[in-house]
Amino acid sequence: MTTGRRGAPGSVVDMTTTPESEPATTDREVELDETATIARDLIRFDTSNYGGGRSNGEADAAEYVAEALRALDLEPLVFESEPGRVSVLARVEGADRSKPGLVVHGHLDVVPADPANWSVDPFAGVVRDGMLWGRGAVDMKNMDAMMLSSLGDILRAGERPARDLVVGFLADEEAGGVLGSHFLVTEHPEVFEGATEAISEVGGYSTFIDGRRSYLLQTGEKALIWIKLRTRGTAGHGSQMIVANAVTRLAEAVAVLGRQQWPIALTDTTTALLSEVARILDVDLEQTSPDELVLHTGTAAGFIRGSLRTTTNPTMLTAGYKHNVVPDTAEALVDIRCMPGQEEAVLAEVRALIGDDVEIETMHTDIGLETPFSGPLVEAITGTLERHDPGAPVLPYLLSGGTDNKALSLLGIAGYGFAPLRLDEGMDFPAMFHGVDERVPLDALSFGSRVLRDLLATY
Ligand SMILES: [Zn+2]
Repeated sequence: MTTGRRGAPGSVVDMTTTPESEPATTDREVELDETATIARDLIRFDTSNYGGGRSNGEADAAEYVAEALRALDLEPLVFESEPGRVSVLARVEGADRSKPGLVVHGHLDVVPADPANWSVDPFAGVVRDGMLWGRGAVDMKNMDAMMLSSLGDILRAGERPARDLVVGFLADEEAGGVLGSHFLVTEHPEVFEGATEAISEVGGYSTFIDGRRSYLLQTGEKALIWIKLRTRGTAGHGSQMIVANAVTRLAEAVAVLGRQQWPIALTDTTTALLSEVARILDVDLEQTSPDELVLHTGTAAGFIRGSLRTTTNPTMLTAGYKHNVVPDTAEALVDIRCMPGQEEAVLAEVRALIGDDVEIETMHTDIGLETPFSGPLVEAITGTLERHDPGAPVLPYLLSGGTDNKALSLLGIAGYGFAPLRLDEGMDFPAMFHGVDERVPLDALSFGSRVLRDLLATY
């Protein structure tokens, strides 16, 4: 296996990470296992995706992954949707070919990182304090590495996955997957032929509920609606009495949506989650409010709170060009996340809240998803976790954001968020998605690889 710009997968002694400031414990010569080595190598490819068509691209990381797949005697398919924007997929023949296929996918791009805010170089793949640091350590080069190492472990042992797999390393997820998952689903749907289910990111990690380690399996995603508000008024000198001021009117609408307390809107997923939390806490579900229950879900509380109701967050403002000129228009962008299927109703409510004189332009939408927290795959996942972390409950949850599973759902593929990681209580893992000092414990990576290996070999 060659090509990785700075090394290829395999167990190596890591001597390359020497942070400027001396850490509490130095891991200069930590023996990295295969999963950590691959994750570190992938972090070292700066695949920053800035959005709006600007990106470093995934080509180098994709070539590294393709080489790793070839080394397992697989035949990777490489798709370049635009120059430098590369996705890699491979089919793996399963032991029972009569079973429908499973897509196991991750994305190769990452959100940008400003090194000034980080304790380490975000693209150096630093190992310190028993953890791998860097952009993508959490979202989601960790899972990319777990996918490769678990699959490698199965195939090198002369075994097969239990069913056909489509293993995908996709481009452009951080900008909505237009040049990755959506490109593949639209232009090359045949690569997913025969697959009915998928597993990927933002689920499978552990949180502590009342001191008890529990795993969150992501079984749904909220819908998103990105709107632009526009107000119009009278332009004029900044010293005049101007009643129809576009900026004032826009500010009123923005404040209304930003402060709106949307009511709790439970789905099957969040209903099941809350009843399970109540059971663990041993409290009466009828007597305890959802928000109160969520307070006990540890570091996942932020993610979960956002899944219980619609949110309408203003994110950008544009108006005016000089301090003493009242402009005739003003614009704001608002990020709306609502329950699957509630898009029309929420837009009507937004319209009623801000009034008819504010123009609303829909800039981008994406569907919501909800898959059942039952059935053979869910049973296989919970059974596998039970073998590797006995007694730890597995709970469903609804993601307030989105993943490439939205695109795959257009082909009828039911997607779950399952990138298994066993984490200690002090670790605020959810906060590190797109955050600074992204890092993942080395032992969590090897745990994840073992769980994934077990799942793929048996499901
Ligand atoms: Zn991600």
